[in-house]
Amino acid sequence: MGRYKVVEKFVSINGEARRAGELACFIRFAGCNLNCTYCDTRWANEKKASYEILSEEEIYEYIKSSSVKNVTLTGGEPLLQENIKRLITMLSKDKGLNVEIETNGSVDLSDFINVGENVTFTVDYKLPASGMEDKMHLSNYELLRDTDTVKFVVSDENDLNKANEIIRKYNLDKRLQVYLGASFGKIKNEDIVKYMIDHKMNSVRIQLQMHKYIWNPEKKGV
Ligand code: SF4
Repeated sequence: MGRYKVVEKFVSINGEARRAGELACFIRFAGCNLNCTYCDTRWANEKKASYEILSEEEIYEYIKSSSVKNVTLTGGEPLLQENIKRLITMLSKDKGLNVEIETNGSVDLSDFINVGENVTFTVDYKLPASGMEDKMHLSNYELLRDTDTVKFVVSDENDLNKANEIIRKYNLDKRLQVYLGASFGKIKNEDIVKYMIDHKMNSVRIQLQMHKYIWNPEKKGV
């Protein structure tokens, strides 16, 4: 039986990626191996962060009790939890669930990518302004399927240039869904759109962080 460090679990709307705007049951795990300059969940990564230890069964029961079919495993970095594959495998067996795993791009996905068709990945590419670009596991971008998503959080034009380079290098816009999102307060959404127009970024979408518009940007558990 796996024992997972869960810092919070709640039902809200999915703020990002393909199911943005739909209800989702979130399981947020403790700990992250990165330290991005713009991290807004640093509190969940600190050693003193309080968490509960839950088994696969307890997590599954919580998800089922919510009656919400979209499940988002997030963090921190969820794939660093010991035995996380057991939990993902268990959830994949329930075909009534859509399981999305938000991962920071630093963990090798080869062991996880084909667990089940109802399990998809939203993978960050950490751009230069994050300070974490050298931690990216680049072979992941070859493995991703058309049901997966790559997300770039951009802070400035240098980040946009790098995102454009990576999208083209791995043909991401032809293979799967690609989102550009502003690092909150660092770059205007209109500047991202202007860049997309100027660089003819067809099949790439801008993503607004819905949570920050609906609730106070600092609010947790939403
Ligand atoms: S990967 Fe995500 S959780 Fe980890 S430091 Fe970066 S923004 Fe924060």
